Amino acid sequence: MNLSEQLFARAQKSIPGGVNSPVRAFRSVGGTPFTTQSAQGAVLTTADGAQLIDFVCTWGPAIHGHNNEAIRNAIAEALNKGTSFGTPNVYEVEMAELVKDCFPSIDKVRMVNSGTEATMSCIRLARGYTGRNKIIKFEGCYHGHVDSLLIKAGSGALTLGNPDSAGIPESFAQETIILPYNDKDALADAFRRWGKEIAGVIVEAYPANCGLILPREGYMEYLRDICTEYGSVFIMDEVMTGFRVSRGGVQEKHGITPDLTALGKVIGGGLPVGAFGGKEEIMNYIAPLGPVYQAGTLSGNPLAMAAGIRAIQLLHQEHLYSHLESATRYLCESVSNAAKKRGIALQTPHTCSMFGLYFTTERVDRFDQAQHTDTNKFAQLFRYCLEHGVFLPPSAYETCFLSTAHTPEVIEQATQVICEGIHTL
Ligand SMILES: *Cc1c(COP(=O)(O)O)cnc(C)c1O
Repeated sequence: MNLSEQLFARAQKSIPGGVNSPVRAFRSVGGTPFTTQSAQGAVLTTADGAQLIDFVCTWGPAIHGHNNEAIRNAIAEALNKGTSFGTPNVYEVEMAELVKDCFPSIDKVRMVNSGTEATMSCIRLARGYTGRNKIIKFEGCYHGHVDSLLIKAGSGALTLGNPDSAGIPESFAQETIILPYNDKDALADAFRRWGKEIAGVIVEAYPANCGLILPREGYMEYLRDICTEYGSVFIMDEVMTGFRVSRGGVQEKHGITPDLTALGKVIGGGLPVGAFGGKEEIMNYIAPLGPVYQAGTLSGNPLAMAAGIRAIQLLHQEHLYSHLESATRYLCESVSNAAKKRGIALQTPHTCSMFGLYFTTERVDRFDQAQHTDTNKFAQLFRYCLEHGVFLPPSAYETCFLSTAHTPEVIEQATQVICEGIHTL
């Protein structure tokens, strides 16, 4: 057994499945997960000394690469002053102002410790604000492990939810309406049927927890408008896309103004941070101003804020997003061409610094299409890449991420490995 295997065997005795988040266990691609010893720039070094070009980027946060010097220095500076105060601190005010500056839809913002907390709080707030109970979510969209959101659909086009996880009461699930993504008619039907009961609609700004699905022309505008028509709160979950596809997320790219936005991942600069914010009128419903309770012992933690502030400030670098975008496009086009040459059906949906690999013939617009892609081929490609120094996400349903530390040389090297991997399929 190598060191990673030994450590994983040891972990399994004390941690369920040996991991603190299930997908890390490599169940859908096979093999034993490696243990990371250290991470620098675009590269992970495993406990056994292997160097891997990383396209997981800690599941999105590491847009500036691993162990970024400026972020590390910001944390060190904050560390000198103490790790947690339990009172207001200057970092959280600065962070709130920065978030507002990036997201014009946000008048007020509250910090939390994860994306899950952010979406959970948005849901409670939407319900508290509207006095309604039902929430619409979309098949394949992941919003963290919030009870009422951990539900996808049955096979029907319009079903009340069945929980995905044991431990979620049917009665909770009954308040969640699951719809197919990119389907305006399904949305119109649901609003016709339950309109005045719908507290809010939550959508992943780009559904990216089932590969990467992009909205059809006009779909997000339609979502915005129908929420306005029925007085429901429109919640954009930009935990993954916020600060990543542009400083102001998908809402900036598409010119959409949600009522509430959930943030996470990049906002923490590698430390655990989430945030939610939006219209002042709605945010004022939160305690201590209003009746919707929400709190956190470590919320606005000074170390986490210092890391996040610096990460956001670094996004101001000129051409940062256009460089990420062109690197992503280059990689996707090369891989796509390699697949074509081999006669392998592969879709490579991509947007600035994010891409998906779907082994299928057609563009994927909905979750059920994503479910019918060839995940065995993905697993084979994953294993080839891992053996040859490239770490893709250990599931066909996760998005791949680039960082600014993925230089053209690194991208070239990784592209070659992935293309060779395609040739072996
Ligand atoms: C990761 C993610 C979450 C959950 O964030 P955690 O920090 O893992 O709790 C919520 N929504 C989206 C879109 C995500 O990608």
